[in-house]
Amino acid sequence: MCGEVRPEHVGRRVALAGWANTRRDHGNLVFIDLRDRTGICQIVVNPERAPDAIGAAHEARNEFVLRAEGEVVARAPEAVNPALPTGEVELQVERLDIVSRSTPLPFQLDEEGVDETLRLRYRWLDLRREKLQRNIALRARMVGVIRRTMEEAGFLDIQTPILFKPTPEGARDFIVPSRLHKGRFYALPQSPQILKQLTMVAGFDRYYQIAICFRDEDLRADRVQEITQLDVEMSFPDQEFLFGLMEETFARIWRECIGVEIERPWPRMTYGEADRRFGTDKPDTRFRLEIEDASEVTRSSQFGVFAAAAAVRFLRVPHVYSRAELAHLEELAREWGAKGLAYVVRDRSGEIRSPIVKFLSTAELDTLAVQPGETLLFAAGEWAQTSRVLSALRLHVGRELGLVDEDAFAFLWVTDFPMFEWDDDEARWSAVHHPFTRPSAEWEKCFADDPGSALAHAYDIVVNGNELGGGSFRIHEPDMQAKVFDILQLSPEEQRAKFGFLLDALAMGAPPHGGIALGIDRMTMVLAREPNLRDVIAFPKNQAGVDPMSGAPSEVAPEQLAELGIRIVAPQPTARPPG
Ligand code: ASP
Repeated sequence: MCGEVRPEHVGRRVALAGWANTRRDHGNLVFIDLRDRTGICQIVVNPERAPDAIGAAHEARNEFVLRAEGEVVARAPEAVNPALPTGEVELQVERLDIVSRSTPLPFQLDEEGVDETLRLRYRWLDLRREKLQRNIALRARMVGVIRRTMEEAGFLDIQTPILFKPTPEGARDFIVPSRLHKGRFYALPQSPQILKQLTMVAGFDRYYQIAICFRDEDLRADRVQEITQLDVEMSFPDQEFLFGLMEETFARIWRECIGVEIERPWPRMTYGEADRRFGTDKPDTRFRLEIEDASEVTRSSQFGVFAAAAAVRFLRVPHVYSRAELAHLEELAREWGAKGLAYVVRDRSGEIRSPIVKFLSTAELDTLAVQPGETLLFAAGEWAQTSRVLSALRLHVGRELGLVDEDAFAFLWVTDFPMFEWDDDEARWSAVHHPFTRPSAEWEKCFADDPGSALAHAYDIVVNGNELGGGSFRIHEPDMQAKVFDILQLSPEEQRAKFGFLLDALAMGAPPHGGIALGIDRMTMVLAREPNLRDVIAFPKNQAGVDPMSGAPSEVAPEQLAELGIRIVAPQPTARPPG
């Protein structure tokens, strides 16, 4: 292969095939960097030695496919290219064939800042770039390690259907009309959750799958509609075994793919603790800067905003902020839902600068204990709101002040999630994980009495502020499952229609079971240190859910719609303001 030629091959006759990466035509000599998946090798065409080859060399253009035969020779010392692994040698061409040509390129492979839509439109070219070649290969290697680890641990790869019924994971379903049963629809699974549980009821004991999950979500920068996950389930689940297996899987991936040793066992933190200390269920623990709570001492504060707030919490930032910097932080805090940003700055000489300090009592100031060189940034309001604002502020400040160790991988487990959360829009409870998650042991008997406080036997894997996966122990008792559906306000009829088969299965000898799923796309992002989710997916859609390459989603022929019994309702013309 092009990238594999080395000094030890000098004197050997070889044939290399690949793409013309670059070409330097000196008239008498032509140099071509020939590229394949493994790298680049310089080939040299000298008209005196290879009169038959020089024509092809002149004619070749970037991204033509060439095949070159010749002898590997050592480069003169001054011609060695230390940037290339093959840089000490080159191929002295004897024969050169143009195997395939290319039309002029919409962009050059080494061009920086090419518009992403253009890159996606010509994805086959984009994928030839070094970074994408690396990301996609890394992903494949990672999946290889995953498969080996799961197989060694006795897990069976069982495929589950794509055309199925809704399996809720909290997103909207993609639905597929049935031609044979007009008026009926399949749903694409949001995850194989119910099916993997059925493999346990079916006696397979240990299941895994690299599964594609479809979630019709409004797209954000870090979301796609088709996610790939490592999906895992086991009967008679043992949390220590499962956590150990996942830590082992990650450790092997990190070791074998990027040569990094991950420290184990990972720390564990309850959801409550993560919320208290970091304001989020996916804390970035690469740096400290933890949230502190002043709610108690400010309850009787002279500062009205503090006194009126259910929660007053703050970040103790080791930096003396200027007025302009604080104004900017306040702007950000407002974007994250704060009404304002109270602060206390104490400069290095000990002087305090703060519009609120005159309202604070000695007791309050003693508790806050602001040190020279510190700024306290406050959020006041409902607890959840202070969490949201301070967690975002924490990440911003951490990054801005360089507190984050960018080389570190800080893994942890977050456990003991709430079982339900109140959905204001729908005015009912919804499942935090999914409706098949069992309550924690203490809540098994009483979760229905106080759904808002009930805890679930659920856990997430978090690294550097990213949630990489999550899972839970499941409900295997039909009564308990029906009770959860009741809390979610599914009528008995709906329960039968949507989940009757699951309830039936649970009633026919279901072993206790539990599992987890890991997001392969996100894992690759973290592993490759790649900020763009689409750059770890070979053929992604853009942020509008469109594939600029194929044009999907596209219209279908009227005959096809007729066969499906579907009529398109024309979108309402939007009213335009006059003029
Ligand atoms: N089905 C869950 C998910 O896709 C994972 C699990 O509970 O195993 O997030």
